[in-house]
Amino acid sequence: MGAETEYTALFERQFIDGEWVPSSSADFIDVENPATFEHFARIPDGTVEDVDRAVDAARRALPAWKRTPLEERCALMELFLKHFQSMRNAVIGLEVKELGAPVTFAANAHCDYQYVRVASYIEAAGQVKLEEAFPASTVIREPVGVVGCITPWNYPLGQIVQKVVPALLMGNTVVLKPSQSTPLTACLMVEAFRRAGFPKGTINLISGRGSRAGARFAVHPKVAMISFTGSTEVGVTLAQQALAGVKRVSLELGGKSPCVWLPDVPDYAPAVPHLFNSILLNSGQTCTALSRLLVPKSRLAEVEALLVEHLSDYPVGDPADPKTKIGPVASKSQYETVKRYVELGVGEGARLLAGGVPEAPVKGWYVKPVIFTDVRNDMRIAREEIFGPVLCVIPYGTLDEAVELANDTPYGLNAMVYGASRAQACAVARRINAGNVYINDGPRDVYAPFGGYGASGIGREGGLYGLLEFTQLKALFDHSTF
Ligand code: NAD
Repeated sequence: MGAETEYTALFERQFIDGEWVPSSSADFIDVENPATFEHFARIPDGTVEDVDRAVDAARRALPAWKRTPLEERCALMELFLKHFQSMRNAVIGLEVKELGAPVTFAANAHCDYQYVRVASYIEAAGQVKLEEAFPASTVIREPVGVVGCITPWNYPLGQIVQKVVPALLMGNTVVLKPSQSTPLTACLMVEAFRRAGFPKGTINLISGRGSRAGARFAVHPKVAMISFTGSTEVGVTLAQQALAGVKRVSLELGGKSPCVWLPDVPDYAPAVPHLFNSILLNSGQTCTALSRLLVPKSRLAEVEALLVEHLSDYPVGDPADPKTKIGPVASKSQYETVKRYVELGVGEGARLLAGGVPEAPVKGWYVKPVIFTDVRNDMRIAREEIFGPVLCVIPYGTLDEAVELANDTPYGLNAMVYGASRAQACAVARRINAGNVYINDGPRDVYAPFGGYGASGIGREGGLYGLLEFTQLKALFDHSTF
């Protein structure tokens, strides 16, 4: 029995107005362990009525929460963090089971890093200027209102933390709908809010499908803002509906991010882990995955040998084994998508350097890493987000051509430039159209803004920028003479 069994009773309920309550529907959705195919939990198939009850509760809670001083909201968030940290073993156990995340990665990326994020928002909240005086006006930052948060399955907690924590800190109230594929750690997080004493109605959780419960968010008249992370396709549909009701929209969408290895690097070996930790970890199911590797044409053979050599450092296997770096992909549909793209790449004439079309699974949606080389940037495998452990190696001639290829994508979420001359690498990084660009081994800064250019989204998450996203401005002109 894992630490998560303490919470199983919550999974089958919705959290509305401060209480775990049954859904208005008797239908449930099974949650599958992608490593074993076991259906080990179930969640309510939430309804429009559930969403409406949750939005009403959030609307009722708004005036008091909005008036609660920021310092008090921060103090409650600190308390939430303590409760959430006490659930660490259960969180890790559940990410192994619901997502197939390897246990070490689940602990570091899916759990501990999320605690760091929560703490960073509390800290950054101190920098928000809630009121600024100008010579002829006073500008006030106010919450937007009831925020509908819709999140994907790939980093189940990460995507929720990025929305719910800053939205609440800024005085908004929230209705959350996590992905139906990996919905369970959301229940723990919401329970931690309850235990911390968040006022009823400030945070509500509706489990269910996007097409049923999720679709209600964008058209509900009392929802003031939609904060969505997921596919570009769904994000665009939701945004169109939300804009019809003039709602604020924030979108974190897909990517097809380039990693540019510059010609002046004497040895590319130290760059390989940075690349593989991006495209292979989480089974390649990362929006920022560096899925296109751009390398000088003259050094293609050298790069190919290195990639193959380092692949043995990334064993695929049972996610419960601490030595495993790559678990299964998250679901049957993800497995089939990856399979389809590998077949497509072969059909498009890309050369398979490692891996191949995944074999029919016996137990677990496992896909071994696939490396395509001699890829042209106009191939579909280089243009479309695959969301699996599939790397495309694309040769370039000149530096200008490398930049042109890097930018030849509808997306613009992430990039990496690896070069011996830091000045040149920085210059190339500045020419890339993406919201985030890593230079060599530069670590991520939790306080930096995160978000995309182009089809990768609208808006920013992270630190001060992520907090401001959940505010609106009011100008006061007080020239009264009486
Ligand atoms: P998805 O778009 O299928 O689903 C995302 C969420 O939207 C889920 O909760 C789903 O139930 C809901 N949904 C689906 N249809 C809906 C509808 N019609 N109305 C309302 N809600 C609906 O995405 P996914 O497959 O869960 O996640 C993978 C995608 O997320 C990838 O494209 C990935 O790049 C993207 N992503 C982006 C970021 C980022 O920060 N930019 C981070 C993680 C994932």
